[in-house]
Amino acid sequence: MIVDIHTHVGEYPAQIGESFAAQAREVWADVTLGGTLDEHYKNALADVDRAVVLAFDAPAADFVVPNDYVASYVATDPARLVGFGSVDPSSPRALDELERMKGDLGLVGCKLGPLYQNIDPLDPRFLRVCEALERLELPMLIHQGTTFARAGSLLQARPILLDEIALRYPELRIVIAHMGHPWFDEAIAVVRRHPHVYADISALVGRRWLLYQALIAAVEYRVTHKLLFGTDFPFFTAGQTIEGLRSVAGDAFGAGMPTIDPDLIEGIIHRPSLELLEID
Ligand SMILES: [Zn+2]
Repeated sequence: MIVDIHTHVGEYPAQIGESFAAQAREVWADVTLGGTLDEHYKNALADVDRAVVLAFDAPAADFVVPNDYVASYVATDPARLVGFGSVDPSSPRALDELERMKGDLGLVGCKLGPLYQNIDPLDPRFLRVCEALERLELPMLIHQGTTFARAGSLLQARPILLDEIALRYPELRIVIAHMGHPWFDEAIAVVRRHPHVYADISALVGRRWLLYQALIAAVEYRVTHKLLFGTDFPFFTAGQTIEGLRSVAGDAFGAGMPTIDPDLIEGIIHRPSLELLEID
């Protein structure tokens, strides 16, 4: 059983707007945004059994994929698709929308990205969302790491800020996207301290040296059992991600370098993430 904890859908330019797309093209010249739901279904699920599909409410970044859009897509195959909603913490409707997305839409987690939503994770408006997620038993997948998008400040994006959130809301399930790249050391420090904080490895196969260092650090801090498989589709496919993970195992980086046990890599690929997050 392979679960992809991190996939995106979104129409361009209606949901993924032109200003976001222009910034994406500055760093990823050949990026294709806005695939169809048919393409998502065919390609994101090609090499995995189940995929989490993320809404995203980040008007500051010109990136708004509505909860209803994700919910109606997930309803086409609830055996394989898992829907996570999103709320903009700055919106006065954020808490009502959390209740609605769980109760009416059946979404089972929440995607947040303070840097994209231009809010400090320790802002009271963000914290009240965390409090509600803990109460509603909805896991939070949070983009806490860098990005090309210029909506907010990198100071809002440090993984270390999640330590305070995990201390205040100890029952909240948290997944730090992309191991907090490039600050995987901060992400690992937070994951290690808190029983319900995890990190996904999505998108890291595009930076092989960083992935290798991050995995070695995770081994040394003994947190590899809390690393979840994810792709960041459509930026990476599951096939690419599995191949990229396997390529850093063993003596891939040469004699004298620390090695990564191939079994550890298979453990990440086959991680029962939905069980760990108490979804289903
Ligand atoms: Zn993503």
